[in-house]
Amino acid sequence: MLLITCPHCGPRDATEFTYGGDANVRRPANPEALTDEQWADYVYLRDNPRGEHDELWQHSSGCRRWIEVRRNTYTHDVMATGLPK
Ligand SMILES: [Zn+2]
Repeated sequence: MLLITCPHCGPRDATEFTYGGDANVRRPANPEALTDEQWADYVYLRDNPRGEHDELWQHSSGCRRWIEVRRNTYTHDVMATGLPK
């Protein structure tokens, strides 16, 4: 069982959460200046790291807030949780 500690609700089973993607992806500051290929890269391309990774999760069966989770994608250990940056 994977436990994720919601900063608002406390430790909860991972089944209460929905994965929301890489927490390090930032929207381009000036999207009008991007080429179609650069925009497609921003929208669709993501790294698939093995090891520690910052992820966004929504506590969809709880407070429904978004949180940031630092998780090892190989061992599934959760190192830290907090509010999104
Ligand atoms: Zn919560």
